[in-house]
Order: sequence, then C-alpha cells, then structure tokens
Amino acid sequence: MSIHKLNVAIDGPAGAGKSTISRLVANELGYVYVDTGAMYRSVTWKMLQRGLPLSEQDAIVELARQSDIRLFPHPSGQQVFVDGEDVTEAIRSSEVTSSVSDVAKIAGVRALLVEKQKLMALEKGVVMDGRDIGTNVLPHAEVKVFMTAGVRVRAERRRRELEDKGSRITLEQLMAEISERDRIDQEREVSPLVMADDAILLDTTEMSIGQVVERIIDLCKAKMGGEKLNENV
Ligand code: C5P
Repeated sequence: MSIHKLNVAIDGPAGAGKSTISRLVANELGYVYVDTGAMYRSVTWKMLQRGLPLSEQDAIVELARQSDIRLFPHPSGQQVFVDGEDVTEAIRSSEVTSSVSDVAKIAGVRALLVEKQKLMALEKGVVMDGRDIGTNVLPHAEVKVFMTAGVRVRAERRRRELEDKGSRITLEQLMAEISERDRIDQEREVSPLVMADDAILLDTTEMSIGQVVERIIDLCKAKMGGEKLNENV
C-alpha cells in the first residue's frame, strides 16, 4: 500500500517551542524537519562574519545568493552548514539573534530562501517551522498550526534552554528580546508573522510538549481520513 504524505506548516512567534515540537512530530511521522529560522540565521551569521552593516541590503542579498546553506537531520535537532562550515551553534549566538529579524525583513533575502524552502517540500513529508510557512511558503500544506504562548512562558522556556548551555541571561532581558523580535516580524512589509486563515491556533502556555505533539499528530490523522500516516502511526 502506498502511503500518502502530508506537509505540515508550523508558524508562531519566537520561543513558542516550534522547533522542539516540529522535530518530535517529524520523528514520529518519519518526515523531514525543516527549521527555516536557521536559514535566516545563517545569512545573518555570514553577514556578521563579513562585517557587513545592515544598511548594505544589496550586498546582503548577494551574500545570501552565494551562500550554500544545508540542513541535516540530527538527534538533537538539525545540523546547519554554511559553505561547508558547521554553524549549528554559532547561529544561536546573541549577536545573530539580535540582528536576524532585520535581515529577515529584506525582500530579496526572503525571496531566495523561500524558493529553497518550497523546493525542500516538493516531495511532501515535511514538517516546516517558521513565521510565514502557512501563509506564504506552503500555502497548500495539508496541516497548518499557529503555535503561541504567553511571552513570560516563552522567555522562561528559552531561559531553561540557555541555562543548560551555561548562559546567564535574565528573564527580563529574554522577554525584551523576544518581544522586540515579535514586533519586527509582525510589522514587516513582506510576509509578516500572521496566522493563516486556515491554520489551527494552539496556545501552548498550559500544555506539555507531549500534549502538543499528540494534538498535531491527531490533526494529521484527521487529514488522512483513516489512512495510515506511516507503518507505525
Ligand atoms: O525560528 P527562529 O527564532 O530561529 O527564527 C529567527 C528569525 O528568523 C525570526 O525572528 C524571524 O525574524 C526570521 N524568520 C522569518 N521567517 C521564517 C523563519 C524565521 O522571518 N520563516
């Protein structure tokens, strides 16, 4: 029996847990997880490496065009390579985080990355997370989820993650950083962060990771109308 595959689009504001959830959903379904934020972070990392100022927009678009960004599945998430260099950790630095939303505003950068993202999902069987997946990258995705949570809860989750890595950033700093990124993402002209009309809103403030994953798997099962999602599910 051939098993049909779906595309799953997961959008939402910073720190809502999209990447953790998307990875688990992809594992359960045997699908490929694509973290599109990592692609915007990669361009930002390269821009900072080159010392290019944000005002040099044409040069940043050119840099994005010349960048070979590759994502590989990894048990702890996803490995990211830019021009052959492993930048998995480097793209999570506070310098990259504080500039990435300004880079993601540049229309030419978005056009290049969105084209790559569409290609990655052509064969279906992809769980893709970002800000504009359901509205712009995969408008025909069979399952669309808009995941959110209160800003304090998002900052607390992020702080726990960072503490595990030895960082001592305060909750107030994280709340400010997350709110500022949300503001830029929501107010930008090109494909701003907005819920797609046909997306399901999941407020995860009071939900466990397991509950959120189960809810999304249920949405996928409902779309399949009784057909199996893979050999196990
Ligand atoms: O998902 P993550 O927080 O790593 O994304 C980093 C930034 O990349 C976001 O704050 C947003 O500015 C940008 N982004 C975007 N569109 C996407 C994914 C991420 O604009 N599809």
